[in-house]
Amino acid sequence: MSDPENWGEDDDNDPDYVPPGEMENGHITQSSNSNTEESDSTDDENQASSNNGQFDTDLPTAHRYLGKLNNVSGYTLYDDGEVLDILAIYTTTMVFPGFTLPLVMNNYVETTMMQNFIEKNNVFVLLCANSAFSGIYNYGVTMEIFETQMRNNVLNIKARGRQRCKLVPGYEIKSWAGRLKQVKIKIIAEPEISSPLCDTQLLSLKRKRLFTSTEYQDIVKNYKYRRYHLAQFPISPWVYDKYEISYYVKLLLDGLTHYIGEYIPEDPIKLSYWFVQNYQLRHDERLHILKLNTALERLKLEYKYLKLASSNTERKMCCDSCGTEITDPSKVFAMSKDGIQSNYVNPGGHVYETVTVMNAQNFQLVGNPSKQFSWFPGYAWTIMQCKSCNNHLGWRFTSTMLRPSCFYGLAKSGFKVVIHKKLSPEFLSEFPERFQSRGTSFASDYTPV
Ligand SMILES: [Zn+2]
Repeated sequence: MSDPENWGEDDDNDPDYVPPGEMENGHITQSSNSNTEESDSTDDENQASSNNGQFDTDLPTAHRYLGKLNNVSGYTLYDDGEVLDILAIYTTTMVFPGFTLPLVMNNYVETTMMQNFIEKNNVFVLLCANSAFSGIYNYGVTMEIFETQMRNNVLNIKARGRQRCKLVPGYEIKSWAGRLKQVKIKIIAEPEISSPLCDTQLLSLKRKRLFTSTEYQDIVKNYKYRRYHLAQFPISPWVYDKYEISYYVKLLLDGLTHYIGEYIPEDPIKLSYWFVQNYQLRHDERLHILKLNTALERLKLEYKYLKLASSNTERKMCCDSCGTEITDPSKVFAMSKDGIQSNYVNPGGHVYETVTVMNAQNFQLVGNPSKQFSWFPGYAWTIMQCKSCNNHLGWRFTSTMLRPSCFYGLAKSGFKVVIHKKLSPEFLSEFPERFQSRGTSFASDYTPV
């Protein structure tokens, strides 16, 4: 564990030191003159603290590092099943409805095309790689641009996820400049949430004995009437209970209680997207959820992942290239209102899906702390690399005034989620004995006679 007070001290004489500006995968900066950065640091830190030095988690979602952008008004929702010819952006990251994506475009052809597009339409589609990373995944999310600005030939954009969509099969995907593509998509309907019993109760009774609510508490309150009502059907009541969306909302929220101080939505649709955006899932698991059409299906699968994690498997966050363990999901915490995992962009235009964690291990720091283009106002970042293989893992963020004083932003591109089988309690209880007996024999072998 590195000490935030001693940052960069050991880097000065390091022959392998790479200036941040030359990092291929890290932050790209023009210069990292720490003297000039310090001059405005107090201002930044004062603005960033909401009260008592605690960091204001509203700030990262505003992506202030992009500067002040112009608002684009509107809220576009397409009809369910509507087919559109639309511009798509292909990135390494996926953003789910309700979440924000920042973009920086500095390629001349890309910016010109994007600008022409924005003049006519402010919705594009975000596409990402399939599970084998061999091509484009068939499902994506429509993104609505809500802020944009062209400054010094660089186009800054902020967009928010709106609706899930699917590529229409049989249509060619045209590749334009850079990450831009032209695709034909079909908007996927988000079905209204309903209970399996919603049409089986007389309207007149509904007002008095409502047992098909979206609130778990309401169902529990009127459960007696629900049992009476279900007695007329041949299938057991628990089968119907298991199709109530509020049941899964409750299970999921109960399973996420360790996300202390975290805003977790209770609305089933929002919760299903919050989970996939924030829980540490593998790329293929996230794609699978994106494909599911109803919030009920998504919540069910998410609960399965959550349950598996708490029973016989455990998730670890390991270096993507060599597999060294960096941290585990119990260390994640939210530094942003969007949650634990958010997208940020560097001046080079690379979008990093970043997970904020309290602790990390097996890393080394590269270069000096810098406040340039900091995603967390008031914090200075230092590049983190894997200790074993030098793979770029993310950044350590430090502040002398704000709380927490130190945390880590791990780039999704730098680590992978590895699922291990947990050792059973029986094995663990047996294990010390085995270990001890082996240790004794080892010691006795070498005891001088
Ligand atoms: Zn590594």
